[in-house]
Amino acid sequence: MKPRPPIIAILGHVDHGKTTLLDQIRKSTIAKREHGGITQKIGAYEITTDIKGYKTNKITFIDTPGHEAFSALRARGANVADLAILIIDAKDSVMPQTAESISHIKAANIPFIVALNKVDLPDANTDKVKNDLLKYEVAVEGKGGHVPTIEISAKTGAGINELLETILIITSDLNLTFEEKDSPRAYIIESKKDKRGIIASVILKMGSLHIGDEIFADDKKIKVKMMISDTGEHLTVALPSTPFELLGFNEMPQVGTTITNQQITKEMIEPTSITDNKIDLDSLLHPKMLEKKLSLIIKADSQGSLEAIVNSLDKNKNVEIILKAIGDVNKSDIFLAKTTNSIVIGFSVNIFPEVVELSKQEKVIIKTYNIIYELLEELNEVADLLKEKEEKEKHLKGEAKILAQFVIEKEAIFGVKIIKGKINLADQLEVYRQNKMIGKTKLVSLKIRAKPMEEVKKDQEAGMIFSPPLDIRTGDVVKSIL
Ligand code: GDP
Repeated sequence: MKPRPPIIAILGHVDHGKTTLLDQIRKSTIAKREHGGITQKIGAYEITTDIKGYKTNKITFIDTPGHEAFSALRARGANVADLAILIIDAKDSVMPQTAESISHIKAANIPFIVALNKVDLPDANTDKVKNDLLKYEVAVEGKGGHVPTIEISAKTGAGINELLETILIITSDLNLTFEEKDSPRAYIIESKKDKRGIIASVILKMGSLHIGDEIFADDKKIKVKMMISDTGEHLTVALPSTPFELLGFNEMPQVGTTITNQQITKEMIEPTSITDNKIDLDSLLHPKMLEKKLSLIIKADSQGSLEAIVNSLDKNKNVEIILKAIGDVNKSDIFLAKTTNSIVIGFSVNIFPEVVELSKQEKVIIKTYNIIYELLEELNEVADLLKEKEEKEKHLKGEAKILAQFVIEKEAIFGVKIIKGKINLADQLEVYRQNKMIGKTKLVSLKIRAKPMEEVKKDQEAGMIFSPPLDIRTGDVVKSIL
């Protein structure tokens, strides 16, 4: 096993200094390179520090900062970054996109460092930032927590060495290693077309790639034609963490595409099946969507309404709030919702058409409200249903759907398909319409093609008579509960 350099993403509010920090790190290390040389921007870059004593002295930075790029990668299953830097302007402190970045980092479950930037300015107040962070459940060192903070000036370069060393300290503990002979796993972080053809910027996280290798970019087979480093060097073999450009595609691959030596089909990438953009109980209660809790991303127009909503929803144990922030629903909210199986709630905020479009593509539900009590009522109801469903599932023996209804000699007979488990004659059944129970009944006759049965199982179709017949209709579901 060989160590691989850590891969770092920089997140934070607009104008807090992400680009300046990336440029400063790049500039200061390029200057140190023996041959200098102009490097190409390829979506990420690797630096070699002169810091000693750790498993590696190299670090890779993803060059497209911000949580939108970060979450777009993650939404496609590309967990590229090993560690995040949350950069905060020490005079402005926590701003809306800082809060969003915190949620994205937490959802990614990776360690992070807080970089308190612009400390060269006289009104920088790092202590205020640290206190403000507590409100977002980020406890930094010195404030009862373990998240490291480094004071920097991306402009002057102050504190940057300490930041780089902290990255190496933390990532040393993550045991980032690779084996060259392992199957490759790489992610596309950028793609473009120029005179050389279609080019993807790629970072490997496992194994190695060689010229001539036949690989898959998700479900498309390609052959590695050429691999080029950021200094224009042609590579015969590419190893983990060092970004490079890959040629050999016949069509433009999407950012976030996984490269492996196995075909990844669409179904493997997109397990959820939400097609409607409205809250739809059937979809929400779909087992792959929300499992135990109603997981929410809440965007509101003001601090007051946000607090009112969050304080009330927090009381419901079946609600989990992944992100609460002020502002319009944006693309990164959609990506975060996708990776965390959440729905997006907008309260008196705008949703631009391109965000609606993205939500359809990513099969994420957005629901907007303008009246707080309507929001609370509906969401609490969904959360409670989810809980109820979970409890019931534990005791579910079998479930069947009513496909047709006949009346023979004044008796209602139902054509039914068993969709889960099994159902026996004389079972007590609960009848559901659109996930709401409408009554209880008993199975008094069970036949398959006129032949009386004692038991029917998943995928079988049967004729059933219920007593009492209730008002059962086609589309209803009957459940046998243990
Ligand atoms: P981004 O939107 O997060 O990428 O922010 P930028 O890197 O574009 O920085 C926004 C502004 O803040 C620019 O005008 C930078 O020059 C300035 N800036 C960034 N870092 C520092 C710093 O450490 N000190 C000072 N004084 N200004 C900074």
